[in-house]
Amino acid sequence: MKRKLIAGNWKMNGGLVANEALVKALIAGMGTGTQAADVAVCVPAVYLASTQLWLGASAIQLGAQDVSQHASGAFTGEISGQMLKEFGVRHVLVGHSERRQYHAESDAVVSLKAKQALVCGITPIVCVGETLAEREAGKTEEVVKRQLAAVIHDNGHCISEIVVAYEPVWAIGTGKTASAEQAQQVHAVLRAQLKAATAHADRMRILYGGSMTAANAAHLLSQPDIDGGLVGGASLKSPDFLAILAACPC
Ligand code: PEP
Repeated sequence: MKRKLIAGNWKMNGGLVANEALVKALIAGMGTGTQAADVAVCVPAVYLASTQLWLGASAIQLGAQDVSQHASGAFTGEISGQMLKEFGVRHVLVGHSERRQYHAESDAVVSLKAKQALVCGITPIVCVGETLAEREAGKTEEVVKRQLAAVIHDNGHCISEIVVAYEPVWAIGTGKTASAEQAQQVHAVLRAQLKAATAHADRMRILYGGSMTAANAAHLLSQPDIDGGLVGGASLKSPDFLAILAACPC
């Protein structure tokens, strides 16, 4: 079985004091033994430097929530992949539905961001997912395949280096989780799409995100094509995040 990845997305939450306490509680809770899964926290950019220090040599990997589509230059407010790399960032979210919705990020922009991450040796966690209206119109497959196709098209053989996160928009932060069966169905579609693009699709990780909690994690994570979780709200409380980690099948 593939090793799962549990990634926390802190979004725009926390502060210096709270974030340090959260990281320290996670490190203490995980202990020094072998973990059931790889673990990452995707933190607000201003906390990358501090979080890198707090994480030290722990098993928790550092992640960012966004990366510029450009390598460098006159792009005020943007942060490049190289800059993230300097702070030990291993993963970066691209195409999170909140970026697509509130920052009008198109499939093309998401794809360029994934490319920048890959060029800099950072794993992009490419988020795809349908809105409730799209699901109700029977367009789930069409939407997620279109979103992933753009990234596959622009990233050639490097595609096997990405992580995909299926995040139904209607399940993010709403407390409504896709059932394990609903999620598995979409993950299988995404796996098939990856298989058509690369011989390495079986070793690629497809995460589920959308109101994952300690209560539903075990069932979701036991599905054959669910290789981990992207966790928002529950990543802000160490007991909840650690319980999701503990739910990973060994
Ligand atoms: C997310 O923001 O990626 C997410 C999955 O959030 P939540 O777990 O709160 O639904």
